[in-house]
Order: sequence, then C-alpha cells, then structure tokens
Amino acid sequence: MIVVFKQTASDTDVDQVCEKIRSLGCNPLVMRTAEQITIHVEEIPGPEAGESLKRLRSMGSIDQLIMLAKPYERIAAKHSSRTVDVDGVVFGGNAVVLVAGPCTVESEEQLFAAAECVAASGASVLRGGAYKPSTSPYSFHGLGVAALEMLQEAGKRFGLKVVTEVMDPRKVELVAQHAHILQVGARNMQNYDLLREMGRSGMPVLLKRGMNARIEEWLLAAEYVATSGSERIILCERGIRTFETATRNTLDLSSVPVVKGLCSLPVIVDPSHATGRRDLVSAMCKAALAAGADGLMIEVHPNPEDALKDGAQSLPTEEFESLVPELKKVAEAVGRRIVAPVTAA
Ligand code: PEP
Ligand code: MN
Repeated sequence: MIVVFKQTASDTDVDQVCEKIRSLGCNPLVMRTAEQITIHVEEIPGPEAGESLKRLRSMGSIDQLIMLAKPYERIAAKHSSRTVDVDGVVFGGNAVVLVAGPCTVESEEQLFAAAECVAASGASVLRGGAYKPSTSPYSFHGLGVAALEMLQEAGKRFGLKVVTEVMDPRKVELVAQHAHILQVGARNMQNYDLLREMGRSGMPVLLKRGMNARIEEWLLAAEYVATSGSERIILCERGIRTFETATRNTLDLSSVPVVKGLCSLPVIVDPSHATGRRDLVSAMCKAALAAGADGLMIEVHPNPEDALKDGAQSLPTEEFESLVPELKKVAEAVGRRIVAPVTAA
C-alpha cells in the first residue's frame, strides 16, 4: 500500500502517520521528493486490517491510500523476466554480459589501454567514471566532460557500449549524449529526483544497490525509474555494509536469486566494490555466475598501483585477460555463455 500525503502535510503529520503504521505492526518506508511525500507499507497483518485501514484513511494529512498487489508493480516478477537490449548487447538473456574498465577515467592513455584489453578479452561494455562520488571532499572527482568524450571515443574504437555514472539530475542529458547506459551509484540509490530524471530520459539505467539498502528499497528505487519513463533497468549488486571489515563491503549474493524471484529485471554483480580486494574478485565473479547473475561489472586498470581511485580492487589488464576463460567455463557449467563481443564500428 502507498500512503500519499496532502501537499500541506508537515513533518509532524508524517511522524504521526508513521507511528500509527508501526502500531499496526508494519514498517513505514518514507519517500520524499520535491513534489510529494509518500509512505510505502507492506500488508497490514491480522483480522482487524480493514478497520485499521479505515482509521488510517481518516487521518487529516493523508490524501489517499493506493492499494498495490506489490509495492513495485511495474517491475514485479509477474511480468515474465525481461531483457534489456542496449544496441545489441542484451542483459538478461542466456548470455552473461561483462562490463569492465577503470574505476575512473584518468587519461586517454589509461582508458584506451583498459578498453583495448577488455574488448579483446570478451567484455562488451566499457565502464569508467567521469563524475565520481567520493566519501571525502578531498578525493579526485573525475574529469567530467573530457572523460565523457574519451569514453565515447574508446567505445567507438573498440566496439564497446559505455556505462558511466550520473550524479546530478541536470547532467542526465549531457551524459546520455555520450553513453549507452546511465549508472546510478550506490550513494545515490535513494536520490529520487535523480531517479525520476533518469527514467524521463528513456535511457537504459544501471541501478546499483545502496550500501545500506534493503532489497525492497532497491526495488522501489527501480520502480521510481520505471514509473518515470524507462523500464530498461539493470540492477547491480555491489555489496552492503555489515560489521565485517575484512572486505570493503559484504557481497550479498543471495540477493541475486531473491531479486529474480521478486522482479523481472536483469541483475548483475560488481565484485570489485563488493570486496575492495583484487585477490577476491575472481572467486566472487564465479560465485556470482553460479548464483544466476546476468552479468559482471569488474574494475580493470593498466597499472592499478598508480590508479587515482580503487587501485586495490582493480585487476591489472593481464589478470582480466586470464580470468575471462575461467568465467566462460563457469558460465557454461550453469547453462550460460559469455556474450560475444560486438565488432568495432
Ligand atoms: C562505481 O561503480 O564507480 C562506484 C562508485 O560504485 P558504487 O556506487 O557501487 O560505490
Ligand atoms: Mn570504483
């Protein structure tokens, strides 16, 4: 169910309704956008549910209650599982898609060396950040437009599609002119204005799971994109924050089959950000394929020790090259194959 507030609702009104929902044994999930405040609530339990709903409906700050079969109607699993076709590279089909490239675009030399290697090894999508979200304001934040132009050029030269992150709703159009897929980073998974703008662009969207997000919140974020105009969404599991410190995040691989049971979208896995450790990437790539991932996103750098960002988790080009044949074997063992690279334009 979705509780939609009147435009006049105050923070106190929202708190009161949340309290009421909790007293009914449910967990309210508040979503705020520039235009609207809503609360998503799972089914109210117990025989008094009908009466409870009536009382909720009568609260003065509520505009309407929308009953949904599933809170994420548009992407729900009742639709047969769908594929996302990015100009011939298909996510969610029998073939597994390899997305690879540096964390951040640093120079033409660095990007082109990485692109050449990943294309020759069997990747079909080039990744690379032009706008980098960073926990620290003192970190490198990307080369911006110059990086977008390099990505576009590298994509053309090596026959790769391009995915890159957009952080600002005002940059969606600009990035869409240079890339084939728009990435929503983990830190922006609940930036609802950005999700809406992404949806409005009609472009394929790669939606990373927030590091603190439950699966339901992740799927609701996808629903934002879907209801705004683009259902070409690829989910990306990139690890969540737990008490464990041996790895950068904890790779929640069970989310792959869970999400596949709940929604119809393709899911890929990013073992680089999930582990933060180059030595674990190969094992986690294989485990992800065995768990049913439709693709992998892997950070690759020609000289990881000189990388401006995420060097510790980036595979040197030679390691990526030798990893792909191993991934092919695992893919075959689970009845899949690695997507054939498209030839350069
Ligand atoms: C990235 O893919 O470049 C990135 C920043 O990852 P995440 O948003 O998952 O941290
Ligand atoms: Mn990175």
